[in-house]
Amino acid sequence: MDRLLTGLQPSGALTIGNYCGGISQIVNYQDKYETFLFVPDMHAITVPQDPEALHRNIINAIAMYIACGVNPDLPNMHIYIQSENLYHANLSWIFECHTPHGDLTRMHQFKAKSAKNEAFTEGLVTYPDLMAADILLYDAKYVPTGIDQKQHVELARNLADRFNNRYGELFVVSEPLIPVIGAKIRDLQNPEQKMSKSTDNPKASVFLSDDEKVIRKKIMSAVTDSDGKIVFDEENKPGVSNLLTIYSAFSGCTIEDSVAKFEGGGYGDLKKAVAEVLVEKLTAFQDKYNKILASGTIDEILDAGRDYSIKIAAEKYEQVRRAVGFGRI
Ligand code: ATP
Ligand code: MG
Repeated sequence: MDRLLTGLQPSGALTIGNYCGGISQIVNYQDKYETFLFVPDMHAITVPQDPEALHRNIINAIAMYIACGVNPDLPNMHIYIQSENLYHANLSWIFECHTPHGDLTRMHQFKAKSAKNEAFTEGLVTYPDLMAADILLYDAKYVPTGIDQKQHVELARNLADRFNNRYGELFVVSEPLIPVIGAKIRDLQNPEQKMSKSTDNPKASVFLSDDEKVIRKKIMSAVTDSDGKIVFDEENKPGVSNLLTIYSAFSGCTIEDSVAKFEGGGYGDLKKAVAEVLVEKLTAFQDKYNKILASGTIDEILDAGRDYSIKIAAEKYEQVRRAVGFGRI
């Protein structure tokens, strides 16, 4: 089985964007690939976090993955917490020492997040090296992701190529898996930007844990435009196109079908339909989520995932350590 790997930062509650770019793809591919699904708590602290909230977000994220359809009982499914496997940080350091600083400060995510906080840390700069370590430790062939992380996967590919050329075949060169619909769910209040879980404006994102009333309110107040026509045009009509994308992603139909269904109607009707389909899906996830949190099974899943991930990562790290000349011969 080829390997697939992805992680979603526990930097807040998961959003419908995270579902489209990450979780739904894992669910779609889980029978086909050996899946490494981890909670990148080390990535989360690249921006300030409250420790208590971080602990809670980690466990809540695992429960939400499973509620959304990730099957922890599959023998090829490994769910673990990044910081419980020390090899990620070790390999990241080696990558940091092989990455030109300019390659890191050129990244879109670095530019966007550092612009929000003048006192940004070095961790925000070197984040893509840690992400490369997350991926390359496991010979992951596929990395499901939204469009926002494509550049980071490319950096991992470049590192893999560079190491393979310089030190001999060490790494599998991974490919991003970007969904056809929902690669960039947009911020509801500023549709020029992508939706993010660590937003300052709670009206901008629909969280998978939002209740019915909140979902309806957020969707009904989503920013659109004044032209009044339902057309899919991401450049000129990002707000309306976003609503059509969300409808398609959560109802399982194509963008063309959604346009055909709503064209000629008003934005109000489109918003009501989007809210309806989200309420139906998200409340079903939430029912399962509460049961999983109450079941007490998460620790067992994480212990098994940790042990397996350490076993695989230790083998790869040993090869890299020798290749770069660390320690004794
Ligand atoms: P943060 O604001 O803390 O960076 P985030 O919402 O961007 O949070 P990440 O943990 O950085 O979430 O990303 C987790 C996964 O979700 C990645 O695969 C990423 O590409 C995907 N993703 C994030 N936002 C979106 C979005 N708006 N649309 C589609 N996919 C997304
Ligand atoms: Mg992000």
